[in-house]
Amino acid sequence: MGRTHEYVCPTCGAVVERPFRAPSVVRQCDNGCSFGHFLRADILARVEEVPEEARPDDWNEMEVENRLLVAMREGVVSMPDLR
Ligand SMILES: [Zn+2]
Repeated sequence: MGRTHEYVCPTCGAVVERPFRAPSVVRQCDNGCSFGHFLRADILARVEEVPEEARPDDWNEMEVENRLLVAMREGVVSMPDLR
């Protein structure tokens, strides 16, 4: 049974599947996005659960790495989630 995991380009939402589980995949997006990582889909979904009032004003312009740090600070994402 080939269990695969989905990884998402945080810039454009492109999805790739890989047969392993990791927090992210180093991959240049086919759409030429500047961020060279795809984040595992469930982690990216967690990051989007940071409540509105906890988000910095520039949330929409922040790189996903920085959003992830905010999510961890807010307790929305914890270290075990990143395994
Ligand atoms: Zn992309």
